[in-house]
Amino acid sequence: MKYIGAHVSAAGGVENAPLNAQKIGATAFALFTKNQRQWHARPLSPESITAFRANCERCGFSPAQILPHDSYLINLGHPEREALEKSRAAFLDEMQRCEQLGLIYLNFHPGSHLRKISEADCLTRIAESINLALDATRGVTAVIENTAGQGSNLGYRFEHIAEIIEQVEDKSRIGVCLDTCHSFAAGYELRTTEGCETTFQTFADVVGFDYLCGMHLNGSKATFGSRVDRHHSLGQGELGMSVFEYIMPDERFDGIPLVLETIDESLWPDEIRLLQSMVPGAGNG
Ligand SMILES: [Zn+2]
Ligand SMILES: [Zn+2]
Repeated sequence: MKYIGAHVSAAGGVENAPLNAQKIGATAFALFTKNQRQWHARPLSPESITAFRANCERCGFSPAQILPHDSYLINLGHPEREALEKSRAAFLDEMQRCEQLGLIYLNFHPGSHLRKISEADCLTRIAESINLALDATRGVTAVIENTAGQGSNLGYRFEHIAEIIEQVEDKSRIGVCLDTCHSFAAGYELRTTEGCETTFQTFADVVGFDYLCGMHLNGSKATFGSRVDRHHSLGQGELGMSVFEYIMPDERFDGIPLVLETIDESLWPDEIRLLQSMVPGAGNG
């Protein structure tokens, strides 16, 4: 079973996200549980939590179909103590919000060394940050997203992700989200079937599909290996359609949220339909 959707708006309250997802024909969705550009947010109200759970149930979204994303401000590998503490507190708050909503994943970008500490030190800080958050919460898996490697962001090599996982104590609550745009921009070939075969075999060898908890399905405006993070609509830009034709029939991507973060929201219903049509047996039942 493929769960396909998009990162939908939660404007007016998290309870609106499942409704927005249903409107575009999605069977998965991503959301921010707070404003992603601010440090602080009011706690979720009991009414909002109840409505979110009720709407998810009514629209047919189980927690396995939902991939919440944390704030862009958080840097779990920050080189400076005070800023690191601030990020860790904000990340814990995000994890707790997911816990309250009955969700099982929180998707985040690993972190940046800001050219002040080594890659290895930064990866260790990230793992420590995850350990602290996992210790203080229950039932939510921290899902590391691979990055394009823009600026000093880590997570653009599968080895970075493997190194973080290696240092996480509770391996039952650590996972990975692969973004097609980020992978491609980071230098993982996905424009051909052979390229996809090699890239996903590398992922299997270095990290392992057991850890895969979600995918971000995006085209790329940036060129191969450019280390620039610029999403595009499916089939537009540099990436092409091969990677989506590769993923949709492949059972290794079953049962996890496959989420569009493509740039033109008006295309989401068509993009979801197109992806669904690539799943064998789709439209027969
Ligand atoms: Zn992404
Ligand atoms: Zn991106």
